[in-house]
Amino acid sequence: MTAPAPAVPLPVTAPAVRPYQSYVYAYPHKTAYEPLPGRPALRDLWRGERKDALSLYLHIPFCEVRCGFCNLFTRIGAPDGLTGRYLDALDRQAAAVREALDDGADKAGEADKTDKTDEAGETGTGPVRFANAAFGGGTPTFLTADELNRLCDIAEHRMGADLRAIPLSVEASPATATADRLAVLAERGTTRLSIGVQSFVDEEARAAVRPQRRADVEAALGRIRDARIPVLNIDLIYGIDGQTPASWRTSLDAALAWQPEELYLYPLYVRPLTGLARRTAHTDRAWDEQRLDLYRRGRDHLLAQGYEQVSMRMFRRAGAAPQGPDDHACQTDGMIGLGCGARSYTSALHYSFDYAVDMGEIRRIIDDWTATPDFGRAVHGRYVTGDEARRRHLLQSLLQAQGMPVADYRDRFGTGPHEDFPAELAAFADRGWLHDGGAGPLLRLTPEGLAHSDALGPELFSPAVRAAMAAYEPK
Ligand code: SF4
Repeated sequence: MTAPAPAVPLPVTAPAVRPYQSYVYAYPHKTAYEPLPGRPALRDLWRGERKDALSLYLHIPFCEVRCGFCNLFTRIGAPDGLTGRYLDALDRQAAAVREALDDGADKAGEADKTDKTDEAGETGTGPVRFANAAFGGGTPTFLTADELNRLCDIAEHRMGADLRAIPLSVEASPATATADRLAVLAERGTTRLSIGVQSFVDEEARAAVRPQRRADVEAALGRIRDARIPVLNIDLIYGIDGQTPASWRTSLDAALAWQPEELYLYPLYVRPLTGLARRTAHTDRAWDEQRLDLYRRGRDHLLAQGYEQVSMRMFRRAGAAPQGPDDHACQTDGMIGLGCGARSYTSALHYSFDYAVDMGEIRRIIDDWTATPDFGRAVHGRYVTGDEARRRHLLQSLLQAQGMPVADYRDRFGTGPHEDFPAELAAFADRGWLHDGGAGPLLRLTPEGLAHSDALGPELFSPAVRAAMAAYEPK
């Protein structure tokens, strides 16, 4: 093994801003969602929306174990035929959602008419088409091969997504990435398989409460490559107890040996009610420094190995074709989320079902959801209009390494980001986080700005979203 690459030296003075505050993968976060007054009907929410480039997401909230760092909406195991009942409910939900989408949409043969007015005077909505699909979790491959076939049938036959013609991304764990499941996924059109490895060092995996053996992980990666799914993504975590620059390099090199088209490097967070939160209280600056150091080493190593940085977490091998959603939600296209923990987005409303981290609460919510007879209404969510839409656009564009063309923002909103967010952008420029001090036609983060994505993002949250998140009681 070669010696670890030298990292960029740490700043002489400690950063004034804590770098690891919140992973902003969607804005607003689900903890800012609230019960929706009147539970609006989906057909009303989607009437008038463009539907010709929708994203489809199917959520499978089951895992074999609960990793110590995980606060995703998922439960351990699925006793007494629960997966079958869950798929039954998913099927009912898909039928209800598709009916709502079709209500008022153009019929086949009118595909080119996207903005017509119907007899009732309401704005037409164009055809219903899906541009990409993803199965996430939890662990979608917790399902058996037959159940995965059924999941694909729901996406294709109920929702009308042509899975073999669009990018389809699926998450898996090493133990569930079995040859029979992978064969089904490959045959049904999966273009990207994402596997959570976290660490190739067995002691670190144990420390993160994700017990696994490296030999089993390597075998799973071999099966995934044998299945010839075009894009392999490997998730790794830095900041684990006992992890060193050398052991981090061991994991990076073990992952690189598989030449994955994508790699995600995640900083470890210890969040309320997770397994690690019960064991440790990691809030000190030394841990911040460890994570920043490992991040910089990881980033520099991947760049030197021919990967390009897409965002703070995401790296793509040079020349690899993107086959799944990038590390951001599209700014303007709608999303249909099916399943108990999935979010859906219209242009004005983000909605989902109830959310929890505690295992007992998650079980209760899943049981209630699988018994739901009527999926025709949105029950929990948050409106994202006006100022919130501007924040979301800026936030999610700025966190991409390629940055945000100022003209795109102005075209969409009629004002510039500096007019709308003068104090925030001035603060980012003062800290050296913006190229050209933010003065150019492209608002783009410097390497240090990208390194501080998890501090920068939360600074763009609105006071109302902050208040809602602060009022949320973890359960
Ligand atoms: S396998 Fe993934 S979703 Fe499941 S508990 Fe672990 S990190 Fe969470």
